[in-house]
Order: sequence, then C-alpha cells, then structure tokens
Amino acid sequence: MMNIVLYNTMSRKKEEIASRSISYYTCGPTIYNFAHIGNFRTYVFEDLLKRALLFLGYSVNHVMNITDVDDKTIKGAISQKMFLKEYTEPFKKGFFEDSKILRILPANDYPEATQYIDEMIAIIQVLLDKKIAYKGSDGSIYFSIAQFPSYGKLSHLKIQELSQGASQRMALDEYDKEHASDFVLWKSYDPKRDGTIFWNSPFGPGRPGWHIECSAMALKLLGDTVDIHCGGVDNIFPHHENEIAQSESYTGKTFVRHWVHVQHLIVEGKKMSKSLGNFYTLRDLLQKGYSGREIRYLLLSVHYRMSLNFTFEGLKAARAALQRIDDFLQRMAEIDTSVSEGKVSAILQKMDQDMKEALADDLNISAALAVLFEGIRQINVLYDAQSINLQEAERIIEFFHKIDNVLAILPEKKETVPEEILDALSKRDKAREEKNFLLADELRDFIASKGYVIEDTPKGSRIKKN
Ligand code: AMP
Ligand code: ZN
Repeated sequence: MMNIVLYNTMSRKKEEIASRSISYYTCGPTIYNFAHIGNFRTYVFEDLLKRALLFLGYSVNHVMNITDVDDKTIKGAISQKMFLKEYTEPFKKGFFEDSKILRILPANDYPEATQYIDEMIAIIQVLLDKKIAYKGSDGSIYFSIAQFPSYGKLSHLKIQELSQGASQRMALDEYDKEHASDFVLWKSYDPKRDGTIFWNSPFGPGRPGWHIECSAMALKLLGDTVDIHCGGVDNIFPHHENEIAQSESYTGKTFVRHWVHVQHLIVEGKKMSKSLGNFYTLRDLLQKGYSGREIRYLLLSVHYRMSLNFTFEGLKAARAALQRIDDFLQRMAEIDTSVSEGKVSAILQKMDQDMKEALADDLNISAALAVLFEGIRQINVLYDAQSINLQEAERIIEFFHKIDNVLAILPEKKETVPEEILDALSKRDKAREEKNFLLADELRDFIASKGYVIEDTPKGSRIKKN
C-alpha cells in the first residue's frame, strides 16, 4: 500500500503519514451566517484529503466541530432578539445542505461547542491549578503564554512579533491581560454584551473562548494526540497556535502530529469582501445557474497550498471540463461491439497507479486531473478506431467511478430523459427519414424548449441535457 506524503506546517517539510488509522480534526463553521465559497474551498479540500486517504487504504475517524457560541453568534442572536440556538439553527442546517450539494462526505462526528461546556470548564480548571491560566481583573480567565515556552512553534513567529500583532488586534474587553498575546479561555459574563447568554462555572458565569472549544472537542473525541488537523491558513495564528498551547499544557503530550493548512480563495484577484461586491455564498452561485459539481470541480482543481483565484471564467472552464468527462462516459455507455480485447486494461492499470502516486504526493491535484484527461484522450483514440468491446467499456465506466470516490465530480446518478422527449425524438427521426424536414425541425425546437439538444451520430441520434 502506498503511504501519503503531506506538507506539515509545523516542520515545514513534506512528511509521510505512516499510521494507517487516522484521527482527523477539521475546524468547522461558526454558524452566524452562511458559509462563503472561501470556507468551502477549505472544506472541499479537507474532503478531498479524507477521500484520498480512504482511496489509499487508510481508515479515517473524522471530527468537525460546529462553533455555535462565540462573539459573532451571540451578537447576532442579541441583535435579532432570539435565543442563541434559534439564531444559529438555520445556518447549521444551511451548512449541511451546502456540504451535501458539494458532495462533502459527512464527518463521523459534528460536536457542537455548547454541548461540551463542561469539558471546556474542566480543562480551564486544570490550567488554573497548574498556574498556566490566571484570572484577569475583569473576571475572565486567560492563558499565559509565558508559561508555554514553545508558543509560536506552529506559526514560526517570535513572541515579540506575536505581541505586536496581538496588541493591534487586542479587543477592548481583553485589556486585563498580563501579556498582549495572552488569550481568553473563559470570558466573564457581561449582561450588556451577552444578554441572557451565559453558563455557570467555578470561576463565575461566562462563556468559553473560541480556541478552547476546539481543544476540548478534539481531546474528548479523538484523544490526546490527533494525527491530522486541518484548517485554512488564517487559522494558523492565533487559533491553532492557541489550541496547541492549551491542549499540550493540559495533557503534557503532543497535540497534533501533522498540521495541514489550505491557502485562501480570492475572487477575481481580490480578497473577498462584502464591500467589494465579490462575496459569494454557495447559494449565490447556485442561483446564477452553476451546479454543485461545477463549483466543487473548480474548488478542488487548484493545489491546496496555492491561492485559488475564483473567477466566472474558471467556473465556465469547470463546466467544459465536466462536459468532456460526461460526453466520454456517455460514449462508453453506448459501446455494444464485440471486437477482441485490446489495450484498455493496460491503460486503466497505468491510470490507477499514476492516480495513486499523484494523490500520495501531497495531493497533487493537477497531476491527478492530468491522469484523468490523458486517460480519456487515449481511450478516445481506441474508441475512434472502434477497438473497444462491451466488457472493456463497462470496465472503463467502473474504473472512472472508482476514481470518483476521490474526486466526486461525476454525475451522481444517470439522469433519465422524460418520456415525452424520447417520444419526440423518435418522431423526429421518423420525420427525417421521410424527409419531412418541417416536422423534424418543429420537433427539434420542441425538444430544445424543454432544455435538451439532439446530437446526430453515425449510430443514430441521441439526447443530451443542454
Ligand atoms: P470560519 O467560519 O471563519 O472559522 O472559517 C471556516 C474555515 O474556512 C476555516 O478553516 C478558515 O480558515 C477557512 N477560510 C476562511 N476564509 C477563507 C478563504 N477566503 N479561503 C479559504 N478558506 C477560508
Ligand atoms: Zn478550531
């Protein structure tokens, strides 16, 4: 079996993943609005990585958290005069719907932060007992980075640099910290800010900080050491740096063996932002007539360590690439000849090997897609020479579906053409035979009005969705 090699943000090197049973933690959505396509770039990549691991014979236990309490969810709920859960629920539902449309495999577990408050409190208590955490004068509990000497090891930043960054970012309600980079573990309750949203704890009413949420859920569900932890590059600092500090101070063990981070998606060369009018959710793109398949294809087609420039041209190119695959599979499905066995087996075997090598090399997606299209090109040459038999054609289709367990870009199930269209097609063929071109054209226009096109091939006509 082939082992995958992945770039590790911590060591800044590509490393082999030797363990065959992987615990996999990915930072999930904060459900205060619908996820944007940048978020989905990260989630689709995380899905690709998981599918590639499975394809290469690993087993994967995947946990993705749902952040259903933080500054943004509380602010949203209060401004809408809603209970927290009432406010977050539609966005959670939306996230699962969108993930399904993008064919993201479900995780084994989707822990919600509000269900793990006790675990968070227990960790914070230990950190207080160990004097790694302290209570600020505002009553909030902070993590003291001075107590964790290797702080900065993931982001490769020096504490000095971190302090400067942190001072600029320091929220007004965190002025009670001893060091600018100390971060909040438990935010004490402020009735003006938090309304009725708080939990009781041994250190007073309040709510957890965002970072402790992931540590508590990862440790509880995956154990002290997680094999692979993923997120977007913006998560490296401070979120993942803080997850390491809290978790390792708590357990005394390595928190994560392998850190994988996805570069950001930008739109038409610019950072996505509401003010620039280039901010898209999945729903926005579906409304513009693009499909989940097309969007998924575009999102996964660029290597995860390169930034992805999202453009509508790119979406059209994704559409064309998928059309090429669909046409190819349709052609294979129509083969019914019985010529003798040819070169198909050898081509498929090489594709299988090359595909595995491409994926195992730090998810080299360009190479993987090249294997796919080169295979199509070679098989098309055989098709044109009419040297593929029915059994080979079936094997080709089966093989493409096997590869699709990783890419998930093929049509999910064969679309059935409505009866009235098939009926119109056969009437139109008959009209043409009888040289009644007026009727034939009328029938073709009728078919087109229903969103289908006729393709005339040497073997007869066939119908395609437009
Ligand atoms: P958030 O809901 O902001 O915590 O983000 C959820 C996930 O999306 C995190 O893993 C982020 O790192 C990632 N993310 C945020 N913005 C982008 C972007 N523009 N491109 C790719 N990933 C992103
Ligand atoms: Zn996280």
